[in-house]
Amino acid sequence: MGESLKEFTLFGINMYTLSNYRFVNWARNVRSRPHTYFLPDSVDDIRIIIKRALAENRKVRVVGAGHSWSTAAATDDFMVSLDKLNRLVHVDKETLQVTVQGGTRLKHLHRLLYPLGLAMQNIGSISEQSIAGAISTGTHGTGLGYGVLASQVLSLKLVNGLGELIELKASDDDFKAAAVSLGCMGIITEVTLQCVDLYHVEEKAEPVLFNDMVTNLLTWSKSEQHPKVWWFPHTRYAMMYSYTKVPDAIRDTFAKQYIDDGVVSKLFFRGFLSMGHLSHGFRPAVNTLISKIFLKKISRVNVNYKVLNVPMPPRHREAEYAFPLDKAQEVLLRLHDLINTQKLKMNFVLEVRFTKADDYLLSACNGQDTCYIGFYYAGEKNWERYLKLFEELAMEYGARPHLGKEFTVESSYIHSVMPGIKQFNTIRKAYDPQGVFENGFTQKIFSLTP
Ligand SMILES: Cc1cc2nc3c(=O)[nH]c(=O)nc-3n(C[C@H](O)[C@H](O)[C@H](O)COP(=O)(O)OP(=O)(O)OC[C@H]3O[C@@H](n4cnc5c(N)ncnc54)[C@H](O)[C@@H]3O)c2cc1C
Repeated sequence: MGESLKEFTLFGINMYTLSNYRFVNWARNVRSRPHTYFLPDSVDDIRIIIKRALAENRKVRVVGAGHSWSTAAATDDFMVSLDKLNRLVHVDKETLQVTVQGGTRLKHLHRLLYPLGLAMQNIGSISEQSIAGAISTGTHGTGLGYGVLASQVLSLKLVNGLGELIELKASDDDFKAAAVSLGCMGIITEVTLQCVDLYHVEEKAEPVLFNDMVTNLLTWSKSEQHPKVWWFPHTRYAMMYSYTKVPDAIRDTFAKQYIDDGVVSKLFFRGFLSMGHLSHGFRPAVNTLISKIFLKKISRVNVNYKVLNVPMPPRHREAEYAFPLDKAQEVLLRLHDLINTQKLKMNFVLEVRFTKADDYLLSACNGQDTCYIGFYYAGEKNWERYLKLFEELAMEYGARPHLGKEFTVESSYIHSVMPGIKQFNTIRKAYDPQGVFENGFTQKIFSLTP
């Protein structure tokens, strides 16, 4: 292993280390000024960075695509990006397994898999994230037959807090910690994924009265492959989406996609959102207007990621809590009441999704089938008050926060609802004995564990 990092300058800028880098996440609610920003292109370089951090008494945070709302990736010390480690390493066509480097963006991964006739088993709403960043916060899609994205990982390699490269397989005990680990056990350099044959997905959606949606929610969530609800507060309606794998040919055109996704979703949605910014009093009327334009029956078939992903939404704030499945209906009715009685002026859809129980120590789905309720809001004004009210409701049900999104609950609460956190912390300390991967966020979460 070389002793020093590579030096390569272009127009006077070192392409591997930057000292004036400012980190801003996608939502622009998190900013930090790393002492040094590293763009390594080899595992050896990552090991050197960790050793330098240990020698200089600096902390290291690894950043993916910066698409978390939480401060999980932020640091004023060393920030490491794996943007240059984004290649396909190995494909096994017999077992449908692929190995990719940790910095590979999901959207890039879909395009690598497509010509191989392969696909990820399930995905979330967007594919901007890096594969390592996505699994590390417990990113999920929807469907009670599907776990968080980390459940597609068969093995991974990481550089731990001593600068050692370690490989973990799903059958290893520590994998349950490493699969969802917030960058706290090491820098994940490679993941091997269990893929499936490329599939098409049929999207069907229709507007349903809010009360009917709630009444049917549990039965429906169990009968559909990928069910999702978008609820437009202040209107009587919710859209119930179901996504199903089908052998059918593509029934979607570029023009239709462009009009539906590009023009309708982006321009109209953004336009109405900015009207909603003018005065909070307009919001119910604006939501009704949006619902009249948007809420129509949809039916189309396309390649999995083109249907399961949605167009990038306007910038907004986002919290999401994992509720026990059997409480979902009650929670939605109470949230409906909360919005009305507290006169919250919501200006974004609220989202309902489902995920299978797992045994990853930091996963919000640990030990329970889950109904995720996403609480979304565009703008700053009132956000903190609204979030607090939503969280008070969530806490009554022992709901667990999505660690890549916003939350303000105390660490004592997190410890009371996440049964694996103590064991995770013990394993984390073995991988990172000097706490080189800590930041304010991880210190807050783990502060109560011995
Ligand atoms: C518009 C939008 C839509 C979204 N939709 C969904 C959704 O459908 N479902 C869902 O669950 N979430 C969703 N999210 C949240 C998002 O998936 C997560 O926050 C995800 O972790 C972001 O991935 P990232 O690559 O940007 O990682 P970052 O946000 O950069 O980092 C997240 C965490 O991963 C760690 N990390 C990053 N790279 C590595 C590595 N190589 N090794 C070890 N640790 C690493 C970081 O240290 C940090 O702790 C959405 C976010 C946005 C902005």
